[in-house]
Amino acid sequence: MLIWSMGAAANFRNEWLLGLVEEMQRDTMLAFHLSAVPLAFLLSGDWQYKGHVLARCVDAVLALALGGCYFLVTWGLLTARGLPDDAGVAEMVRLIDIQNLFIAVGSLIRWWAAARVDERTLFGALTLHTWLYLAVAFINNHFFAGKPELGPEYASIVTVPFVLLWVLSGRSAGSQLQRVPSARVVGVVRTLAPMALAGGLLVVALMLIRLDYVLGASAVLLAALGYVLRSAIAQISHIDRGSQLEVMALTDALTGLYNRHYLDHALPELWRRDSDSARSVGVLMIDIDHFKQLNDRYGHACGDDCLRQVAHALKAQLTRGNDVLARWGGEEFIALVWDVDANRIERLAERLRHAVEVLRIENLDSPLGHISISIGAASVRLDAGAPESTDPTALVQQADRALYQAKAFGRNRVEYFHMDTANQVVEHSIAL
Ligand code: GH3
Ligand code: MG
Ligand code: MG
Repeated sequence: MLIWSMGAAANFRNEWLLGLVEEMQRDTMLAFHLSAVPLAFLLSGDWQYKGHVLARCVDAVLALALGGCYFLVTWGLLTARGLPDDAGVAEMVRLIDIQNLFIAVGSLIRWWAAARVDERTLFGALTLHTWLYLAVAFINNHFFAGKPELGPEYASIVTVPFVLLWVLSGRSAGSQLQRVPSARVVGVVRTLAPMALAGGLLVVALMLIRLDYVLGASAVLLAALGYVLRSAIAQISHIDRGSQLEVMALTDALTGLYNRHYLDHALPELWRRDSDSARSVGVLMIDIDHFKQLNDRYGHACGDDCLRQVAHALKAQLTRGNDVLARWGGEEFIALVWDVDANRIERLAERLRHAVEVLRIENLDSPLGHISISIGAASVRLDAGAPESTDPTALVQQADRALYQAKAFGRNRVEYFHMDTANQVVEHSIAL
């Protein structure tokens, strides 16, 4: 609006004060073209850039180059035969129509594919503005311009779309999207939008070559460089986003441990990878005692805090590289440990139980007066028979049964099953 207003002010001076109604002025033309630069930047850029300063800079340079080249092309065509003539004006008006149409269609597409409510509000306002501008500029350029008998006040209709934009800019964004676009539409538009800037510059640069070879060729190179940089940045941010999503999908947001989804996928894989080299493997199912009462008495926020503390205490005991601790669900955790024989898994389970007990998290609804955990442990020797005959799910089921017993026998205790490779329970010990 600011740049456009500067053009309008120059126009005002030329037409109203100096009476140069018929002449096309270079400074006003330049301002009107450059006012499209921020629009091109906004329409083709990432919605929020998310810290990509380089992407922002590349887009800004491309948008500026596009605006500048477009001005040089239109002005060059206008003055191709010396002073502006009718043919030059007609050519220039056609190019301006095309430019306005591109911006209006671009706004509409960005509005259509907006995935967020503030994005939709912004591009909605821009769509109304750019389509009205397209219509008003068309009327002005085709019917009013170059007709001194109509007087400069006719050209003032071009201010109407800017008044509309100014009014719309005061609107606040709504609270929710009325229509959610498909993820595919959002993805395609967000990927192609930055490319449109480089593509647009390339087209205009090729037109400029006819008028000014050096400038045109430089702009072609800039478009190519911008395209390469922009594609690379887009690729990198897609990979980043993919890795972030992967981490999020496999991590429990509350405790930061792996989640059940991770274990469901990783358990068979870990089993395949480590069962050949390990002598034994153990699973510990860990469940907080009387946790529902803690939630009911102290509130969910306190329950969440307790979950975090317990997770932290358990994690601190499982320090070996290939030990896995995950949140199995609710207030249940699961640990997978390799190379732990019957004695060591009992000692480990007892250490875990003790680590939580000493946290002394108050729970007056527990007979102990504080938080405790029950643990069901199960292990299997892998070197005693063919590892193929053992199965991780069977081991998890045994650990679950052991946990059930630990609960039945009074909680704050460890129950332990050892299985042979044919999944038969061969040893059962009460650790506490
Ligand atoms: P038991 O000693 O037999 O294990 O009894 P319990 O109360 O611990 O077990 P129960 O299964 O009855 O209750 C589990 C509770 O865990 C119920 C649910 O409200 C709570 N819970 C599950 N997930 C979360 C969570 O993410 N945050 C909080 N604060 N509570 C949770
Ligand atoms: Mg429980
Ligand atoms: Mg439970």
